[in-house]
Amino acid sequence: MSQKYERIVVVGGGSAGWMTAAALVAGLKGRASVEVVESEEIGIIGVGEATFPSIRNYNQLIGIDEAEFLRATTGTYKLGIHFCDWLEVGRDYFHTFGHFGNLYGSQTLWAQHRRLGLTEPLGLQCVPTVMAMKDRFVLPSEQAEFKYAYHFDAVQYAAFLRRLAVQRGARHTQGRIVDVSRHADGRVAALQLDDGRRVEGDFFVDCSGFRSLLLGGTLGEPFVDLSHWLPVDGAWACPTERAGDELTPYTRATALESGWAWRIPLQNRTGHGHVFSSRFIDVDRARDQLLARLDGKPVAEPRLLRFTTGHRQRFWVDNVVAVGLSSGFLEPLESTSIYLVQDAIARLMVLLTTGRPLDENDRALFNEGAVRRFSRIRDFIILHYCLTRRRDSELWRHVATMELPETLVFRMELWRRYGVLHEYDEEGFDATSWLAIHAGMDHWPERLDPVFAEVEPELAASALRDRRAAIAVSVERMPSHHRLLQQVLGR
Ligand code: FAD
Repeated sequence: MSQKYERIVVVGGGSAGWMTAAALVAGLKGRASVEVVESEEIGIIGVGEATFPSIRNYNQLIGIDEAEFLRATTGTYKLGIHFCDWLEVGRDYFHTFGHFGNLYGSQTLWAQHRRLGLTEPLGLQCVPTVMAMKDRFVLPSEQAEFKYAYHFDAVQYAAFLRRLAVQRGARHTQGRIVDVSRHADGRVAALQLDDGRRVEGDFFVDCSGFRSLLLGGTLGEPFVDLSHWLPVDGAWACPTERAGDELTPYTRATALESGWAWRIPLQNRTGHGHVFSSRFIDVDRARDQLLARLDGKPVAEPRLLRFTTGHRQRFWVDNVVAVGLSSGFLEPLESTSIYLVQDAIARLMVLLTTGRPLDENDRALFNEGAVRRFSRIRDFIILHYCLTRRRDSELWRHVATMELPETLVFRMELWRRYGVLHEYDEEGFDATSWLAIHAGMDHWPERLDPVFAEVEPELAASALRDRRAAIAVSVERMPSHHRLLQQVLGR
């Protein structure tokens, strides 16, 4: 059955809803009406959010100026994530969005580093990692090529996008949806609001958050539960005051007894949270563990969020497509939720801008792409856990010994046996990211390709030494993250 989409209704006004609406009005240029229905009374998730570099593509696509965006969302720059205590208590590593590079043409630098048995962190050969370690930031240039993302306040981001989308023609309707009516063939026809208003549409984007009002609720699409692999199911969040010049250009993720804690720096406050598995820790104890870690004065009461990791079996059914938490959630480690929102929007826009009626094949293509992305990110997140040497609590014993998805076993075998990092095009994490986690978790191939032995060890050692020194000197000249940000903000 093919479908029209002249009246598009977006259900929900969180980051997912307004990101979708802003992209639809920009991309469809008046060829369809866009109406966002949200309930202020229900509110949005909006904890301090960390993102993935592709967020910059989204912002550029809809014409957002970076300085204006950072001012509106109290945003900061993010070079990556500092992982503490994941391998063992006391061991740490960075996952930054930069590559380690090559030596001698095609020879990977990590392999020479490994062959020489160097004990210094591989990250010292990576520009953004050294920048992160020193709290420095510059925008990438030809000399220092790397990707970056942002930390920002998700509530402010949604409000910023709402202003922009409404200015460009989106309609904003406030009201609580209490009922959903359907056509005889099962398609959603209209939303019933609590004050009696009815919102009709021919295409619905479900951005209703964990409720999954249309896809999970009205259409009853089954949920694929991934909690056997990703066992966290709750988070306490509590922001603290932030002042002064110390401003880390990275998120910190510290492994705790039954989960992990995030630290996300914004301009005026620091987001703190404890993501935990209630199978292994009592909710109150999880809260106490967060409060004991705060490095500033709390500016709000701790807030509890509950979730189940997983996703809907299909993401697009009939005339309803789910974007954001309504489609699924893989836990906040590696900040992939907003990336998945953006990716879904991009794939949806490709189909909607064809201008032709969409049919079962389009939906199947979209669904297959979404499942693939969720599966790859799922595997990437599991990699952070399953390589641990921690055995000091039930959670760590569980993740170190659980049976892994076949797809991850395959990728880990490729790496362990042959030193191969399988590359997928443009879907989430690239080979460099996988290498950062393998290296950080001290997980290496059993043997190296004999080709690496062709270079004299002294020559390779001196090339690595020179490179490391050059990076250290160039980073030392860079401004602090705080200073650069003030410049960008015009302060
Ligand atoms: P929500 O923000 O929940 O919005 C749902 C909307 O639906 C609201 O506007 C609500 O009013 C509306 N709605 C629901 N029911 C009705 C109804 N009956 N009538 C009318 N309106 C209704 N993502 C990242 O990328 N990086 C991170 O660092 C990160 N950290 C996270 C930490 C935690 C603990 C959690 C739980 C999530 C985190 N996320 C993170 C995910 C991120 O918050 C969401 O993906 C993102 O904010 C999008 O949420 P959403 O818009 O799908 O849902």
